[in-house]
Amino acid sequence: MDPHSFILISAAFGVLCAFVFLALRSGFPRDIAGLARWGWSCALMAGAALLFALQGKAPMFISSFVPNLAVAAGVAGLRGSVRRFAGKTAGDAWPAALIILCAAGLIVATLVYEDFRLRVLIMSGALALLFASSAFEVWRVPARAFAERYTAAIFGATAAMMLTRFAAALGCGDASRAALCADVAVLHMVYMATFSFSIVALSLGFLLMVNRALQTRLESLASRDQLSGAYRREAFLALLDRELIGERAAQRPLCLLMMDLDNFKAINDCHGHLVGDRVIRDFSEKVKSVLRRDDLVGRYGGEEFLVLFPDTPPDDAQAIAQRILQAARRGSVGLPAYTVSIGMAILEGGGIDAAAVIDAADGALYAAKRSGKDRLELVRPAGLSVAA
Ligand code: GH3
Ligand code: MG
Ligand code: MG
Repeated sequence: MDPHSFILISAAFGVLCAFVFLALRSGFPRDIAGLARWGWSCALMAGAALLFALQGKAPMFISSFVPNLAVAAGVAGLRGSVRRFAGKTAGDAWPAALIILCAAGLIVATLVYEDFRLRVLIMSGALALLFASSAFEVWRVPARAFAERYTAAIFGATAAMMLTRFAAALGCGDASRAALCADVAVLHMVYMATFSFSIVALSLGFLLMVNRALQTRLESLASRDQLSGAYRREAFLALLDRELIGERAAQRPLCLLMMDLDNFKAINDCHGHLVGDRVIRDFSEKVKSVLRRDDLVGRYGGEEFLVLFPDTPPDDAQAIAQRILQAARRGSVGLPAYTVSIGMAILEGGGIDAAAVIDAADGALYAAKRSGKDRLELVRPAGLSVAA
């Protein structure tokens, strides 16, 4: 294929990718960021490709200077999109400075020296830096999965391609100022091909990344309570069932807390429902702050929460429950004081279903309420209840 065809294919790919991302933008939640920016960056690169196609027909300024800088701005835009996706600022300052430097360099290499090789060196050096930095930004996206690894690999491979072009042009020597030496001319073709396909390959990667973020969001909406961030009742019961079933359950101790805020009706009555909601959120944040990574918290009803400690000796679970009592007592600025009562069911042998464990914890909670609230009661589902 001749360079012209590659350039036109790049433009077509760029337009398609721009279209897809700009169309997706309207349907995605706002906090999955970076889609529109990615779309506009693809459009910029498509525009650059169209201008490159005018080479030989239009002045250098239109067919080389502007599109070269537009490509660099496009790659900087892709990098910014990844950063916005990761919840950061676009961080455009140094890429913008780099592009201004490139512009100055291209002017010198065209007007002062008439040096094609110098222009190749400037642009492939700058693009290698921008692609490598984009690879780094993708690699740093939290919760890195296949989509991020793939996209980082494509960014990295494109950076390597740019670097090879840079090194090859450097190796051409000062003799070839008007045109690159033969093997670099071949490389130039490979570069054009890489460039057209990398727009698509990168866009597919970013599409996978935003799609996975959307999937995670939907799963969370389905399984998490929006006020407290704790698991919804059904999701929590399913997780509890999973912990209780199977051989492993019989060999590991497991503890379940049932917690209910004390005199919560009075908080609602005195301060209003909205303050009541803030107390519920505050309490669930306090609970999460004392739990360990594998502990699960669910909202069972209004101001009732469940906590599951998988594979945890009763003494450890009891210590954490005491920390929850203390955290609630400590209060929070701007909120009315509140306390919580906790019932804790201790399982050491398995062979019990979710409903029976919850019943047992509920019985212990009832005992805590009856004996004065703001306290912890323990029960072993065999029936023994001990004040803590
Ligand atoms: P006790 O110490 O015996 O638990 O007394 P209590 O007043 O807390 O009684 P109970 O647990 O039965 O009361 C729960 C109250 O919580 C009743 C309901 O109005 C309120 N509630 C339930 N869900 C919500 C909610 O999402 N937001 C707010 N603000 N209040 C809720
Ligand atoms: Mg209640
Ligand atoms: Mg209550």
